[in-house]
Amino acid sequence: MKAQVLHETGDAGTPRLRLEDVPEPAPGPGQVLIAVEACGVCRTDLHIVEGEVRGRLPLIPGHQAAGRVVAPGAGVDAFAPGDAVGVGWLFSTCGACRFCASGRENLCEQARFTGRDEHGGYAERMIADARYVYRLPPSFAAADAAPLLCAGIIGYRALRLSGIRPGGRLGLVGFGASAHLAIQVALHWNCEVYAFTREEHHRRLARELGAAWAGQAWDDPGVPLDAAVIFAPAGELIPQTLAHLDRGATLAVNAIHMTAIPSFSYDVLYHERTVRSVANFTRRDAEEFLALAAAIPVRVEVERYPLEGANEVLLRLKRGAVHGAAVLEIGTSG
Ligand SMILES: [Zn+2]
Ligand SMILES: [Zn+2]
Repeated sequence: MKAQVLHETGDAGTPRLRLEDVPEPAPGPGQVLIAVEACGVCRTDLHIVEGEVRGRLPLIPGHQAAGRVVAPGAGVDAFAPGDAVGVGWLFSTCGACRFCASGRENLCEQARFTGRDEHGGYAERMIADARYVYRLPPSFAAADAAPLLCAGIIGYRALRLSGIRPGGRLGLVGFGASAHLAIQVALHWNCEVYAFTREEHHRRLARELGAAWAGQAWDDPGVPLDAAVIFAPAGELIPQTLAHLDRGATLAVNAIHMTAIPSFSYDVLYHERTVRSVANFTRRDAEEFLALAAAIPVRVEVERYPLEGANEVLLRLKRGAVHGAAVLEIGTSG
């Protein structure tokens, strides 16, 4: 089968992924073999390719894979060949630690991640642990479903952790794949959304999707915000965004890696403002978000590329050029 393989990390300005013919994986007990139809490209993939997030090598990246079950492995009853399924970042957890036992499997120290510790979806076929495979809402085509599987689910978790309440004023900082889905959830909750982002085309998309206001990170939105989520991996956004928050507000940081946070005056944090990071997601987050995405229904803005285009997409992502979510369309092979 064809797959994009990472052998050595480094600046994405040089193509790092090699399109190769590799053996098709076989599903072990409890696993499923999936024909990948579409795989979303996430900023985390860029961090892995550039070595800021460490993964196994060689590695097939990709953790937003939508496709069809080809073959369930031994002991798997939940899925049958042809089922439309998705695989996300969480490949597996230990199920026994203090985090797993308390509904926080996203923090499991033994967690394994798709496209980091296990081969992912930049390939015609992949295997997944059946317990961490999701049924996709039938209303979404594979290319539209793929970005829901990380951008969507983690954005949803970040919104929840920000403590935003229905009708509240929410800031979204950085307006890529995740924010363009999160805004639709927030508007569904009747929130007023303020988008802070560097690129004019991202501000335009935010307004099109219903943002009340769009500007640069340092621009004054004119009202204090009840909560905010940062989606861009730039540390200076933390003090810049805190300055827009009302007393008691929470700032959730949806980033697996971030540049250093500059020192800032305690005044912008005082009055019980909170800064917290968002790490991974739980299966419950995934199931809740996929149902919500179908019910709203969210509109997924997709840039489509063939598997061969993976290096180019990563570079576009690095340059802030992707409009909405970037997806590799792979499977006619199912
Ligand atoms: Zn655990
Ligand atoms: Zn991701």
